[in-house]
Amino acid sequence: MEKILIVDDSPVQSTQLKSILDDEYDITTVQTAEEGLRCINSGTYSLILLDVVLPGMDGFTLLKKLQEELRTQSVPVILITSLSAEEDEQRGLILGAVDYITKPFKPVIVKARVDTHIKLYNYRKQVEYQSRTDQLTGIANRREHDRYSVMKWKEAVRLRVPFSICMFDIDRFKAYNDTFGHPAGDKVISAVAKTVDSYLWRSTDFLARYGGEEFVVLMLGEPSSKAFEHLKKIRRAVEDLHIPHDPSVSQWVTVSIGGVTVIPHAESSYDVYLKVADTVLYDAKKFGRNRVAWADENMKRLWEE
Ligand code: GH3
Ligand code: MG
Ligand code: MG
Repeated sequence: MEKILIVDDSPVQSTQLKSILDDEYDITTVQTAEEGLRCINSGTYSLILLDVVLPGMDGFTLLKKLQEELRTQSVPVILITSLSAEEDEQRGLILGAVDYITKPFKPVIVKARVDTHIKLYNYRKQVEYQSRTDQLTGIANRREHDRYSVMKWKEAVRLRVPFSICMFDIDRFKAYNDTFGHPAGDKVISAVAKTVDSYLWRSTDFLARYGGEEFVVLMLGEPSSKAFEHLKKIRRAVEDLHIPHDPSVSQWVTVSIGGVTVIPHAESSYDVYLKVADTVLYDAKKFGRNRVAWADENMKRLWEE
């Protein structure tokens, strides 16, 4: 059930609104904007019905706060108020409310508007999800990589923490496709993504499908020695899936990994280090594939035997 939050200081109004929506939605009611903010910060609501005149913080102020936060700005807010002046309605809509309903309200109209805004919200969430997700594997796509990497790079510059970038590539994958066919190849790409993903459990770890059979992993806060060790484990985990390769190429499907760890500073750019990771990956391929190669904080190479 979709969750709706009602912020209204009048218990009579709250109860009436709740009774209109109760059948189809999971309703929480609070009487102040402060309580509302606490609920919104700890829960996931699909819509907020917000009274404007409230004791303490008013509805306009709460709305403004929600619009300022990335996490809450997309949650639709319907203002529902006894303020019927044109300027009030205009102010609410400018602040970012999706709709404005004046009291006394008509129950069927409130229900219809709520249904519409919930539908729109879900549609938007679905479109946003699809635009950042790779369809085949369900992990982040290239576009999400581009967005996320820039954001995290800035964060690492600010926090002065190590940033690791690694590129993966499935070994001799053209031969795999030629032997087993493209659909079987797709399954391998998914299996590799799933395995790598299962080894990335920190909230700052990130995995994206960068191209056909290429992936990018980003990790924050680990020195190169740790990142390198962790990626060796991941490489081994892929090999241990024991997916048979074209026998003329190798026994199992494997990946080569090239990585770099840097402490980013404002004058350096993410793209430069992504290219370094790509160069290191090329070396891992050249030196025999199914291995991890790394450039540490001093650009010194680390090799997996
Ligand atoms: P290397 O070890 O040097 O990486 O050799 P490779 O054969 O993997 O490299 P190459 O870049 O020559 O070929 C990559 C292959 O990956 C070619 C292409 O058919 C395959 N590929 C790319 N994207 C997909 C995909 O989405 N599905 C499938 N099944 N195959 C893909
Ligand atoms: Mg490739
Ligand atoms: Mg390849």
